[in-house]
Amino acid sequence: MSDPKFNVSFYDSVQNFFERAAPHTGLHRGLLEQIKACNAVYQIRFPVQIGNEYKVIEAYRVQHSHHRLPTKGGIRFSNHVNQEEVMALATLMSYKCAIVDVPFGGAKGGVKINPWEYKEKELEKITRRYTTELVRRNFIGPAIDVPAPDYGTGPREMAWIYDTYRAFNEGDIDAAGCVTGKPVNLNGIQGRTEATGRGVFYGLREACNNKTDMKKLGLAVGIGGKTMVIQGLGNVGSYTGTISQDEGGVKIVGVGEAEGALYNANGIDIHKLLKHRADTGSILGFGEGCTEYDKSERNACLEFECDILVPAALENQLTGSNAKNIKAKIIGEAANGPITSDGEKILLDRGALIVPDLFLNAGGVTVSYFEWLKNLSHMRFGRMEKRFDQQTYNRLIDMVEEKTGKTVGDKERMFVARGADEVDLVRSGLEETMIGAYQQIREIQGRKRNVKDLRTAAFVSAIQKMGSDYEKMGVFP
Ligand code: GLU
Repeated sequence: MSDPKFNVSFYDSVQNFFERAAPHTGLHRGLLEQIKACNAVYQIRFPVQIGNEYKVIEAYRVQHSHHRLPTKGGIRFSNHVNQEEVMALATLMSYKCAIVDVPFGGAKGGVKINPWEYKEKELEKITRRYTTELVRRNFIGPAIDVPAPDYGTGPREMAWIYDTYRAFNEGDIDAAGCVTGKPVNLNGIQGRTEATGRGVFYGLREACNNKTDMKKLGLAVGIGGKTMVIQGLGNVGSYTGTISQDEGGVKIVGVGEAEGALYNANGIDIHKLLKHRADTGSILGFGEGCTEYDKSERNACLEFECDILVPAALENQLTGSNAKNIKAKIIGEAANGPITSDGEKILLDRGALIVPDLFLNAGGVTVSYFEWLKNLSHMRFGRMEKRFDQQTYNRLIDMVEEKTGKTVGDKERMFVARGADEVDLVRSGLEETMIGAYQQIREIQGRKRNVKDLRTAAFVSAIQKMGSDYEKMGVFP
């Protein structure tokens, strides 16, 4: 097993991918440079009292593109945060939003801390202070820049951000739209927490339904029965696993986490494993016939035998040094930037199908868009039509009963005559978005002779959409 050492930085990888796609877009250099550049980088240092000490915290917010407003993207709490990383992530957000037709520019925030080393009260202090800094510089607001969760943050942090923003903006009726991924009972939306993982599942299911691509890989059409290995059981990895297993009939055969890795060719019940980890704090010691790899060997999971490998942790995992050992035929990038540009070349040369991050993990921002719309409309999705739809379906069933003289059972009636709840509509909107976006990028790959992979196609799609916006604004006549 080799270590994923990388020679190409995350930011350089993203720029290399852009340049590979640029010649296929038909756009001129000036416009391409405008699309590529990060529009605003805000670097912050602020002191926070932790116990008896003062700590100076390093933090960032990058707005990559203002072609659409507000800008949008998560806030990451991690020790690895640096300006280049946040710039790369903000850049990906612009392309991601364009691919799934979510009308935002891209942004990203980062706070350089290890959140697991801090107490809840301390994290609250850091989050509120960071938000205050954003407010001071006009880097947050429902029409300006709208953060969301990312690695190391979740609904709890979003609630603190919302509350802090609100304190500075008394009377702003749209204040709840200043951040997404909030708790459901605090102006959040049903289905946001699972959204990225659910989107990964829909995206992979579409990719596995493509007959030409599956034939090339020597795999059966359809996601059912395929084997999957997941690196990272955070929010994205765990929902990808449970939804793929429950709704897709996928067999999870391997899992990797910070503390080690597990493999079992007969399958690992992902629900049981998540429970074991919640109870013991580790995936190790799970038993159930799994082969265990300790912390020093945790990256072995990337090289396990499987049909689909899902890196769902951090960037730079499949690189020039370990890509040759990867056995998976399909790689689903649930994380942002898990494959470096030199690693990708090796994987593509040996015929792997890479379903790229800027499409595959766009489910999070898609449902964030629904949450933002809900906040601006001040009404839950489904509130107006649920009962009306239910009554219409019931009347239809009554009519069928009358005409046929047969009775529909209570269970069947309840199944058919159901108005949509918010979560049904969110899932349906997400499914439609992921299928539509996949079809768009796969069509570009099929139509353009020299676009041979889905990532290049996704970049072409994003760059053309952003270019068309800039042209319409008259910035580049
Ligand atoms: N952090 C997530 C991402 O990387 C979600 C962003 C959002 O919802 O704005 O896509």
